[in-house]
Amino acid sequence: MQAISVRQPWAFAIARGGKTVYNHALPTAYRGPLLIHASMRVDLASCDSPLIRSAGWDPSDPLATLGAVIALAELTDVCTAAVHGERCDCGPWAEPQRYHWRLADVRPLPRPIVALGRVDPWIPPPSLVSEVHAMLATAAKPATLDAGR
Ligand SMILES: [Zn+2]
Repeated sequence: MQAISVRQPWAFAIARGGKTVYNHALPTAYRGPLLIHASMRVDLASCDSPLIRSAGWDPSDPLATLGAVIALAELTDVCTAAVHGERCDCGPWAEPQRYHWRLADVRPLPRPIVALGRVDPWIPPPSLVSEVHAMLATAAKPATLDAGR
C-alpha cells in the first residue's frame, strides 16, 4: 500500500468527483492500492474552476477536510505521453508536461481519517491501512454523507 498527499479541492475531486488522473512531476513503478490523503494545503485559486465545479466541490462535505485520508483508489497505470509532448486519452483532468497516474476503483471513505502526509508517494503505517480497511468493510453505502448537492 502507498499513499499520495493531494491539495484540496483536487483530493475531493478524486474521492467524489470522478477525477481519475493524478498529475505528478515524477513517474512511479508502483501499481496497486493507493490512499488518497488531503494535504494541509489548499489550492484556493482552483476552487472556482469549471473542472472543480463539475466535480461537485462542496466545502461542507466531510471529505473536503484537510490533513486526512479520504479515499482508497487503485493505481493502474502511469501515462508518460504528456511529458514527451504527445497526446493521450487521459481526459479532462490530465495536465500537460505531467505524468498521469491513472486511478480506478475509487472508494471514498465514510468519514476522513486524520493522518500526517509526507512527500509523495509515501508508505502508510499498518495501523492506518487497517483502519481504512475496517472502515470500508463496515460501510454499508459509501455516499451516506452526501449533503445536499
Ligand atoms: Zn495521459
